[in-house]
Amino acid sequence: MKTSDSQLKNYVIAWRRRIHTAPELSFHEVLTSKAIASELKRLGWQVRTGVGGTGVVGLLKGKVAGKTVALRADMDALPVQEENDVCYRSQHPGKMHACGHDGHCAMLLGTASILVQSRAGLKGNVKLLFQPGEETPPGGALGMMSAGALENPKVNAVFGLHLDSSLSSGRIGLRQGPMMAASDNFKITVKGRGGHAARPHHCLDPITAGAQIVAALQTIVSRMVDPAQPAVVTVGRFVSGTKHNIIPETALLEGTARSIDRRTWKMMPRWIRQIAENTARANGLRAAVEYERGYPVLYNDPKMINYSEGVVRSLLGQSAVVHIPDPLMGGEDFAYFLQKAPGAFLRLGSRKDARTAYPWHHPRFNIDEEVLPKGARLLAQLAQGYLAL
Ligand SMILES: [Zn+2]
Ligand SMILES: [Zn+2]
Repeated sequence: MKTSDSQLKNYVIAWRRRIHTAPELSFHEVLTSKAIASELKRLGWQVRTGVGGTGVVGLLKGKVAGKTVALRADMDALPVQEENDVCYRSQHPGKMHACGHDGHCAMLLGTASILVQSRAGLKGNVKLLFQPGEETPPGGALGMMSAGALENPKVNAVFGLHLDSSLSSGRIGLRQGPMMAASDNFKITVKGRGGHAARPHHCLDPITAGAQIVAALQTIVSRMVDPAQPAVVTVGRFVSGTKHNIIPETALLEGTARSIDRRTWKMMPRWIRQIAENTARANGLRAAVEYERGYPVLYNDPKMINYSEGVVRSLLGQSAVVHIPDPLMGGEDFAYFLQKAPGAFLRLGSRKDARTAYPWHHPRFNIDEEVLPKGARLLAQLAQGYLAL
């Protein structure tokens, strides 16, 4: 029996709303993963739970042996207070599905229901990866991989889909090669000597030095990175001092560094350290830098993008295809899966009107739910078509 369009639509929207109502933060997706696991079982999938924390792996073996393809959805929400006035509004204060991961889970369940019905024609296996903690480095993908999510049977290709309010409803964004940035974090502690604000000559002011460091860090992108390569250095947090008439002992700066090309990625920790330590020293202070590598560059296999484009064209029409010209500087831990198996990360446009145009992580982020069944069918078709190649 084939799921009708309206059945599929009702199914995915109901799931999206159910998950949206009860958001859970990174690595605490306990009820979400429980609900997903029991639904997969009900649909007839083999299910493994507790994979790398709250991760869930579904497996559907085709009647005929063949390759194995994986499809992934992330399950975590964000510490954002929802401002949407909708009937399925978040019931958990201070938590919200503001990145569309509720939609990702719902679509993948829709895909699960479609694939079960076409199992007879399936040559090979499909794995569904419901992963924890995409929003919080080190991310949930690594944990699932070390728990064997890509083995037994070994995954030959992997696909993922992210809702995107910058693209109009139903359009699919594709990009060959690097699509998302390597995103690292840094923390700089400027150590000075505190005292009375009116006696700066008896102090070592970490705020003055810290401000110079923030300004000097801007020269990394303008002077050190190859101008043809995109890069970001943002100081997102600067904490120091307690009162207007006190020179504090320390200043804390926290930021993120993003890159696409290998040279920038490699050099970034050295550049940040060099500027922070030496600028502090020029002021007679010391700076300690902690640099932490985050998600790697997300790399879309060109062949898999070509293949995906063909699937998008035949399923949704030529006008659905959008070639994304430049990589996005956000990070995505789907990148880790793509290091182990070739595949593609696609974007699904979800903007219909002003209500669905808010950016990711915004308290009014919302999606055009009509695109969810399209996404579910696209993922199913990507899997089936790949196994038939
Ligand atoms: Zn996000
Ligand atoms: Zn996301």
